[in-house]
Amino acid sequence: MSLRSFLEEMKKGREVVRVRDQVSPRFEVSSIMKAFNGGPVLFFENVGGYNTRVVANICGTRRRICSALRVSPENLYKKLISAWRSPISPKIVKEGPVKEVVEKASLSRIPVLTHFEKDAGPYITSAIVSARSPDGKIENVSIHRLMILDDTHVAVRLVPRHLFKLWETAKEEKKDLEVAIAIGLHPAVLLAASSPAPFGVSEFGIANALLGNKMRLIKCETVGAYAPAEAEIILEGVMSTTEETMEGPLVDIIGTYDIQRCQPIIELVGMMHREDYLYQALLPSGAEHKLLMGLPRETMIWEAVTGVVPIVKAVNLSSGGGGWLHAIISIEKQTDGDGKNALLAAFGAHPSLKHAVVVDADIDVFDLEEVEW
Ligand code: MN
Repeated sequence: MSLRSFLEEMKKGREVVRVRDQVSPRFEVSSIMKAFNGGPVLFFENVGGYNTRVVANICGTRRRICSALRVSPENLYKKLISAWRSPISPKIVKEGPVKEVVEKASLSRIPVLTHFEKDAGPYITSAIVSARSPDGKIENVSIHRLMILDDTHVAVRLVPRHLFKLWETAKEEKKDLEVAIAIGLHPAVLLAASSPAPFGVSEFGIANALLGNKMRLIKCETVGAYAPAEAEIILEGVMSTTEETMEGPLVDIIGTYDIQRCQPIIELVGMMHREDYLYQALLPSGAEHKLLMGLPRETMIWEAVTGVVPIVKAVNLSSGGGGWLHAIISIEKQTDGDGKNALLAAFGAHPSLKHAVVVDADIDVFDLEEVEW
């Protein structure tokens, strides 16, 4: 189960648009991604200055995500919750497709995109970063934006969550943190890396549960970190606990520029990739960004509201609210207090929520005109 196998399925389903004209990784690819936002997968065959093809908008629609997880839209939340509750450790293998080429790291050979005019520069936006605690007992996998500094260094945005915690532990022990950075992944892996699993639960186990125990991990060559054996590229890195640099600005989920902050530097000490690897792009503030961040939150809202009213039909963290701030929830109302209780549960489940609407089950939560009516 790889990005490639998923792309093959999407080609058969006529979900892929090929871009044959030469396009620049600076603004041109991202502007086409934006024009096709929420639409088909894009396959850029000729990226100026590179031999590498770029794929984009992979998780750009709910339908594609459901199809990747082999689940109907009605059962998506249940499937996610079951994987969160019952992760399965993936098998570790010695060889895998990502090991076809093992070489020195060199970012200048990868067509990393510059997305928007006032962004600090080229950014890797679709990578998962995985690391283990020094005793190897705890593993964490999460998505982080990575700002290119030079051929072998990136700055990483560390929100104070799980990877930050591992980094702080390394810092206390006066060590650096070894990480694997994987790019070009099956949607299940990206969705698992965005899940709210508690600290101590490896998101690789969640990905493997979503993929029906078909996922395999490979150990990096030079660092003590693991990554999917079916990835397109793995960068091996050492995250400094002493050296930081200014990171940002970059467009964030709601489409405004995030501020600059002092953030850790990762030195890339190795790289492995498939011979003809694909580079996966992800547009900041695009539909894919919103779905990957929002779907796990919708699931938490769905679960919490299900606890107070009998039937919750659907939840939509709407695109106009950045896929994050506004929720529409449809319920089968049994008694008069159900609407109010649904709202309270939703706000409790997703603390960032600013606005929520509860409608009857006959209203389509994805049709904003119906919701307003
Ligand atoms: Mn985690």
